[in-house]
Parts: sequence; C-alpha cells; structure tokens
Amino acid sequence: MQTLIEHARTFHAKITDKQQEFAQLAHGQQPQVLFISCSDSGVIPSLFRGARPGDLFEVRSAGNIVPPCRPQAACAVAGSIEFAVQVLQVPDIVVCGHSHCGAVQGLLREQSVQTMPLVRRWLTWAGYRARTDEPWLTRGLGEEATEQHVLTQLDHLRTYPFIARRLASGRLRPHAWYYTVETGEVLACAPGSRVFKSL
Ligand code: ZN
Repeated sequence: MQTLIEHARTFHAKITDKQQEFAQLAHGQQPQVLFISCSDSGVIPSLFRGARPGDLFEVRSAGNIVPPCRPQAACAVAGSIEFAVQVLQVPDIVVCGHSHCGAVQGLLREQSVQTMPLVRRWLTWAGYRARTDEPWLTRGLGEEATEQHVLTQLDHLRTYPFIARRLASGRLRPHAWYYTVETGEVLACAPGSRVFKSL
C-alpha cells in the first residue's frame, strides 16, 4: 500500500508536462469506448489498449458480468452502461474476459465459490453455466469457457432497449475480447462470428 500512496502523492508533479491534456478532462469526457472487464488486478485495460485519460469509460465487475436488463433493479453495472450509452453516446462497447478468471471458475465449479454467498448470487446473473458434458470441462478451465461467457454477456447487453436500438441503427458496435494475463495477447471475436482470433 505504501508504494501506491507514494505514487499518488507525487503523481501530480510527474504529469506537469501533460497539464493541458489533463485540464481538458475537467470540461467533460468523450470516451471512445465503453470497456467492460473483470475486477481482476491482472487485467489493466488502459495498459494493453494504450489508452490515454479520457479514452475508456470503464465498468468493472467480478467476472465482467452484465446482468440482463432488469428495469426495477438498482444495479451499478446497468447504471454505468446506461450513462455511457445514453449520455456519453459511446460508439463502441467491448466486453473483455480474461484467462484464469476466478468468476468463470466459479461458474464451472461451484465448490470453488461455496464459502462466498454474495459471489454465488452475483454469478447467477452470468446466464451461463457449463453442463458437465461440455467438452472444455475435460480440457480444463480454458479459453473456450471464458469466450462463451463473454459472448453471453454481449447477448445480455442486447436486452437493454437503448442498446438494442443503437445496435439496430448502427450507432453502436459490440466487441467480444479475451485477454491472456500471462502473455498480454488479446483475442477478438469477429462480428457475426463466435470464434475468437488474435487481434
Ligand atoms: Zn476475472
């Protein structure tokens, strides 16, 4: 923690040469993308995207889960998505899963989250639970399960009427990504496909 405090203490002095860029942010934001990723500390979207301050509107949740639209629910994820799409009018949404995701492991092997009732309840919104006969279970907790999980979250996004309208009119583009924490490689799913390939 002390290292982080030290960095925070001296941060303003380190960015004096970027003063104008940071000052601009006080006048409002116009992010290029709504980026939905996991809370996992190994996933740092601004780092692997090379994003500058103001580029990414980030929503992070355990397992990058986007619950399906529930109009009466007080949900931080849904509220943030509404703001990004309706007010900021982001043109692109990325849902990014990652390797070794604890939430996906929890979906595949319930016993791994047995002592965490709140996590278990959150995972019920993932809308995806592997059946024991699914082939990737025999190959371990790999890419494939996480990729399917990411695509399910994109399906959930389409249940929000304001997103569905923008997707239909071409004002919004959805993207499914997979980030490999150990190598930094990013895979993406081409529009209309359910197969992930290197970016
Ligand atoms: Zn994760």
